[in-house]
Amino acid sequence: MGFIIGNIIAAHTATTIGDADVPDDAQTLTGSAIGRNGPIDVEVVATPDRIYQIKVTNHTETEGIGSVAVEELPVTIYENQSLAVDSVSGATITSDGIKNAVIDALQSGGIDPAAFQNEVAAAAPVEKDEVELECDVVVVGAGGAGLTASVLATQQGQDVILLEKMPFVGGNSLRAEGGMNAADTKVEKELGLDDSTVENFVEDTMNLGHNIANRELVQTLAENSAEAVDWLYSIDAPLPTVVATGGTTHKYLHKPEDGSPVGEYLVEKLKVQVEKLGIDVKVNTTATEILMDNGQAVGVKANDNAHNYTIHAKSVVLTTGGFGANFDLMASYDPSLANAVTTNHSGATGDGIAMAQAVGADTVDMEQIQLHPTVIQEDGTLVSESVRSHGAIIVNTQGKRFVNDLAGRDVVSQAELKQPDGYCYIIFDQHLVDEVALTQKFIERGFAITGKTYEELAANMGLQGEAVQNFVNTMNTWNQSVASGVDAEWGRNNGMDDDLSHAPFYAIKIAPGIHHTMGGIKINSSAQVISTSGAVIPGLFAAGETTGGIHGGNRVGGNAVCDFIVFGRIAGQSASDFADAGGLEQAA
Ligand code: ADP
Repeated sequence: MGFIIGNIIAAHTATTIGDADVPDDAQTLTGSAIGRNGPIDVEVVATPDRIYQIKVTNHTETEGIGSVAVEELPVTIYENQSLAVDSVSGATITSDGIKNAVIDALQSGGIDPAAFQNEVAAAAPVEKDEVELECDVVVVGAGGAGLTASVLATQQGQDVILLEKMPFVGGNSLRAEGGMNAADTKVEKELGLDDSTVENFVEDTMNLGHNIANRELVQTLAENSAEAVDWLYSIDAPLPTVVATGGTTHKYLHKPEDGSPVGEYLVEKLKVQVEKLGIDVKVNTTATEILMDNGQAVGVKANDNAHNYTIHAKSVVLTTGGFGANFDLMASYDPSLANAVTTNHSGATGDGIAMAQAVGADTVDMEQIQLHPTVIQEDGTLVSESVRSHGAIIVNTQGKRFVNDLAGRDVVSQAELKQPDGYCYIIFDQHLVDEVALTQKFIERGFAITGKTYEELAANMGLQGEAVQNFVNTMNTWNQSVASGVDAEWGRNNGMDDDLSHAPFYAIKIAPGIHHTMGGIKINSSAQVISTSGAVIPGLFAAGETTGGIHGGNRVGGNAVCDFIVFGRIAGQSASDFADAGGLEQAA
């Protein structure tokens, strides 16, 4: 039977995938399931033995990630007549949501979804074309650092190729919720925040990072942060709101005006520039090796489904992100992390570090792996600090608080690890749900336990015996602490504007999860990669989470974004200067 894909209706997000003609006995069915951000609704036209059409009629999945699954997965399900197809890489939760919505639709018409579980044959291996390309600057990895470096180098007149192994750009940067730390910015001056100086930013970053970071890199980060914010304004990405972030002595955290998550906001703004500048972005393309000539980086090897690329470039920039999804590598530094849950996207496997090491690069602080204290263990979803900043608290399975819930990530994570049962609960109330939109997502996805009273919530959390009364006492004490403004028990002094007295009440089971790998490729303040013998590797630059030395033993919330913008710009500029100076000829 012939079929036509996607030609029937193409109204905004709702494209029907499937056969143009459907038999009279096919039923039109609707179904729904929860994706990453909320419900995904589908319409399915099917008989018990064939799915004729699939249309995603409504969804709120993240543009550029979940939306890729929304476009691709109905096609694969339809083409294979199977729900046993692979999820779209990096968009597993959305993919599961789509499959479950189709199952829901089929079941609503009495059709057994088991009829659509055929094993999907692996695609036949294709003979790949060998392709040689040439450019001034090749950038490997299109997260925040790679997008920034590419835009900067292109603005300097370079011909850039940007490689990304996932089906979409953004990497872990897309997951940054809070903001970008920066000091001595125009925005801060306008707001009268005179203490947000470069010196204070450096000291806070050093102190909170256990004083093991490379001071020169931290100085570079802080000194260039104000100009980086100006540059963001110049590309239509203003960050006009400034607040405090966990543990810092002053306000450095610059946020988008509408309060939207900073990662999605900046990646979207950078993508607009990438498109405007016509940068050649190759997604689904994995770099595997740095090409060297006479001790100098002169390009990379990469491949996609159909091509083996040899890309010759005057400068190579590595912006491949961290290794928070590479459990073998993390466990080689800390065996207790082998089975930990991670907040990282699946592409965070440390490829750039391995590629750089293969050409003699040194690494620093590889064993410094940051845990985030409030991670939902089922799938690594992060409950960001903003939930605690708006008043949530953390209790253990005895119903008790055990730490200043808004201390640094390292302090709270370590305190949690010492609690019985290996997990805790973050507690909030209906008032907070009304204030903080992302908590509604957690409720929709079924992560929140609820109760109309503290006792009922405790029972639903499975607390037993005296833990129930402990929990009730904890809540009452906390509400009194909020009223008096003094947390006599644990010394918390922020996120205490509202108490937790508005029913119904909510608990989400959380534990520490891997969040950021602070170590990586050794660089200098010009983003040049340093070899194990301490020399600069000509032509090779690196920026962002793939590098080490900037965050020391504990990354401050808001410093990853500052890192990828500041060092992304520096890497783009240095790579551009090197290309201008002649690249290969320069070393000759
Ligand atoms: P940063 O914050 O440093 O920019 P991100 O995690 O946001 O880090 O981005 C790194 C990007 O690099 C991710 O999108 C990831 O998929 C991509 N990447 C990682 N390894 C490779 C590789 N071998 N080839 C191409 N892209 C890669």
